Amino acid sequence: MKKNINFFILFLTFSISVFSQNLNEKKVLIMWGGWEGHKPELFVKYVSAWLEKKDIEYVISNDLEDYANFKFLSEFDLIVQSVTMSELSKTQEAGLLKAINSGIGIAGAHGGIADSFRKQTNYQFMIGGQWVEHPGKITKFTVNFLDDELTQGLEDFEIETEQYYMHYDPNIEIIATSKFNGKPFSPNNTDFILDPTWIDDIVMPVAWKKRYGLGRVFNMSIGHDPDEFMKHPDAWILLTRGFIWAMR
Ligand SMILES: [Zn+2]
Repeated sequence: MKKNINFFILFLTFSISVFSQNLNEKKVLIMWGGWEGHKPELFVKYVSAWLEKKDIEYVISNDLEDYANFKFLSEFDLIVQSVTMSELSKTQEAGLLKAINSGIGIAGAHGGIADSFRKQTNYQFMIGGQWVEHPGKITKFTVNFLDDELTQGLEDFEIETEQYYMHYDPNIEIIATSKFNGKPFSPNNTDFILDPTWIDDIVMPVAWKKRYGLGRVFNMSIGHDPDEFMKHPDAWILLTRGFIWAMR
């Protein structure tokens, strides 16, 4: 009998784990757009292929006006966003924030989520941070995973891409980091050379989780080229675990 109870507890623990949700009952909105340099359509291709494999229903949109429609957004459990820069109208921002506050998750990578809508500070308040610089542009660095349910079994890896320097909210839960080297670089492609010795050894979040009302937010800062996720499987595993974690 005791053995049965133990087994039941184990089963219950497993059932409520984030990785064992009934994914085929979930519905995801993939929103793409903004700066083409981040290849949002390629990102959408990878995400939609993964959703299909997981038997998760999804809708693809590149019309930000959908964000103004709270009733439409309410059909979804998660928004995966890849919209770099661009801009939200007041009603679009309000609709999106209301949706996340009501329990719909939002997740994404790189500029598609953490360098979107630079003028919309309430959006940034919801995400928990904003890109401000990638010193030296494409550079080599190590992604370090911190202890978390989403990073179980993943191994630190070296990557060559943009290393995002973020302004972030102390309220985020950091689950992966990288360290800056403070080498001189030229900000914004000018002939001015900056020697940012003060960022030498600065540890910066690469992935985080946070809450916004009833909604969950998952952000990962690598992914300048969506192919990075194919070259670094542990990065893709973390991103897709983030999708599942953030689902309502
Ligand atoms: Zn980029």
